[in-house]
Amino acid sequence: MNHDESRALYDRALSVIPGGVNSSVRATRPYPFFVQRGDGAHVVDADGNRYIDYVNGYGPLLYGHDLPEPVQSAIQSHAAEGPMYGAPTEIEVDLAEFVARHVPSVEMVRFVNSGTEATVSAVRLARGYTGRDKIVVMQGGYHGAQESTLVEGGPDGAEPSSPGIPSAFAEHTIPVPFNDVDTIEAVFEEHGDDIAAVLTEPILGNTGIVLPVDGYLERLRELTATHDSLLIFDEVITGFRVGGLQCAQGKFGVTPDVTTFGKIVGGGFPVGAIGGKSEIIEQFTPAGEVFQSGTFSGHPVTMAAGYETLKYAAENDVYEHVNRLGERLRRGIAEICADQAPSYTVVGTDSMFKTIFTREGPADADEEGVCDAGCRQRDSCARYEYCPKTGADVADAETERWERIFWQEMKERGIFLTANQFESQFVSYAHTDEDIERTLEAYKEAL
Ligand code: PMP
Repeated sequence: MNHDESRALYDRALSVIPGGVNSSVRATRPYPFFVQRGDGAHVVDADGNRYIDYVNGYGPLLYGHDLPEPVQSAIQSHAAEGPMYGAPTEIEVDLAEFVARHVPSVEMVRFVNSGTEATVSAVRLARGYTGRDKIVVMQGGYHGAQESTLVEGGPDGAEPSSPGIPSAFAEHTIPVPFNDVDTIEAVFEEHGDDIAAVLTEPILGNTGIVLPVDGYLERLRELTATHDSLLIFDEVITGFRVGGLQCAQGKFGVTPDVTTFGKIVGGGFPVGAIGGKSEIIEQFTPAGEVFQSGTFSGHPVTMAAGYETLKYAAENDVYEHVNRLGERLRRGIAEICADQAPSYTVVGTDSMFKTIFTREGPADADEEGVCDAGCRQRDSCARYEYCPKTGADVADAETERWERIFWQEMKERGIFLTANQFESQFVSYAHTDEDIERTLEAYKEAL
């Protein structure tokens, strides 16, 4: 593949944009390809190379790059009517009603402009509502570029993970290993009365994918309820991706107090949202006292894109299609791994998938290596013991080999995966069985 144009664009970008990109993960080595346009399940780069796209904007694109007609025309008509007003519009109410109707935890919702903004506001809300300062997060979990969650360390002490964050922020944050019941119980025993909230992705999507082991989310629900702390599910990735319109909380049958959304709920435009019980969400200004505000919040074009995206999914076979192809892809990759790389583990559920370059696997790995329900198949999965259950398990994988060799090999074969071991990949409604077959061929060669 020729990448001359991308290389030239990257050189230009490096002079005026730090690192040449506007979000760090995009800076793939040795330089990123610059996208010229999307086309269905594919992207075409500045040199005319075509890739089957499993990045899908890091999650927001449920339909890939061909938006269904009702989504397209809603976006265009709202943009044509003047993009925004600083006064409320009907489309915000439509989307809020839709989310409240489908997502178990949501009675009310406040829209913002990014996943980061949603988690920042959710943490402030939890602190304001409970009058407590401490929050518990999962090691390796990600909640955007916010001061309170950019921490590293463990239950005995945390430090900011980036320069520029006063250590006072980390003092109030307790990182624990995901799926570890003993640790969270000990943390609640010691700090229970000071914990405003446990904030977690129901499935770790930025360090894995890591699925919850059977009973873990249920235990978080019990502990937070017992101690009058809030349980916040960050469904920025899983929202309207896993568990269909009910989201991961519906799939797992665990209802948090507060849910943060982003990505799909904006139909491909910048978005975030904080939903939950009215009693809690109404603490936000102007109904309550916890300050929350934004010039672009509830942007009509975004709201229209999100509403029509979800309505179309409710009325068509969208989740059936993406989940079926997701399953086919996971099963196909697992078979290839069993044959060629038996220590590697295929993880994911619904339309999320990833191959983790774990270092060990069962000696007789076969088709059972498909990790469709993740670690919840404690009794039936031959790989249970080897399947990553914490962020640290994934970090222990062959992450350099994944990024430096495997990702490049796939890219050169026209398959666009997320460029490191840690980020999820997604199937869209635009993908076809033929795309899956081509992708599996590429896996077979690259692995
Ligand atoms: N929470 C989770 C679970 C995420 O995956 C992300 C982004 N990948 C965020 C929050 C932050 O969202 P944004 O990038 O829109 O600020």
